[in-house]
Amino acid sequence: MAPRLKIANLSVTYAGAVTALSGVNLEVAPGEALGVFGESGAGKSTLLRAIVRLLPAGTLVEGSIRSESVELLLEPEDGMRRVRGRGVAYIPQAPSEALNPVLTALTQVAEVLRVHFPMTRAALREAAMERLARFFPENATRIAHAYPHELSGGERQRVVICQALCASPGLLLADEPTSALDSVAQLEFLRMLRHERERAGMSLIFVSHDRAVLRFVTGRQVSL
Ligand code: ADP
Repeated sequence: MAPRLKIANLSVTYAGAVTALSGVNLEVAPGEALGVFGESGAGKSTLLRAIVRLLPAGTLVEGSIRSESVELLLEPEDGMRRVRGRGVAYIPQAPSEALNPVLTALTQVAEVLRVHFPMTRAALREAAMERLARFFPENATRIAHAYPHELSGGERQRVVICQALCASPGLLLADEPTSALDSVAQLEFLRMLRHERERAGMSLIFVSHDRAVLRFVTGRQVSL
């Protein structure tokens, strides 16, 4: 079966000549959960940001990153906007900081849907509400109309995963998304991620410096 993502000979050098990655090769099969282990500074965040092309301007990226039949390193920016969220979704480190503080949870989920599915405003809000109800079966209405500061850390985390998965991405990238959580919230988040991944049959690349966390959510593991 053709890989869902294939990275060949990837090197990333930041402006100022810091080489964060050199000659990285990696493949993820459709539906596979791949763990990438690396100590702090090994280039884990760099790897995921290279895939979704969110590295700072002036960074030199060489090699190949193919997602389905698209070479992401050559894709124009408007094509990348369609890839992000639908082809490849990304949960950054400290995901709750990824939320926009001035938008309600409902609006943030609707914004992602708007990029990928042409619908009226009312239909978008309805679809976003439906997605939130899956992640918050007991209190979706309160969550939907809340701003990030009105939510608990665990609730924000759940909004972020709902947002990442709302357009049914084929591949999810997760950058140590639980490092800021206490152990109970961490376990709850990892369970939810594992369940949603299995339910949707999507591929996952999960990077972490914690081998136990990697074993919990992924099958095969590689090191950077
Ligand atoms: P990890 O996620 O494994 O901790 P990173 O990908 O964050 O590693 O960083 C890899 C290397 O790249 C480190 O040496 C880091 O200092 C460097 N680096 C990360 N971001 C930048 C940047 N924006 N500019 C320059 N160097 C950076």
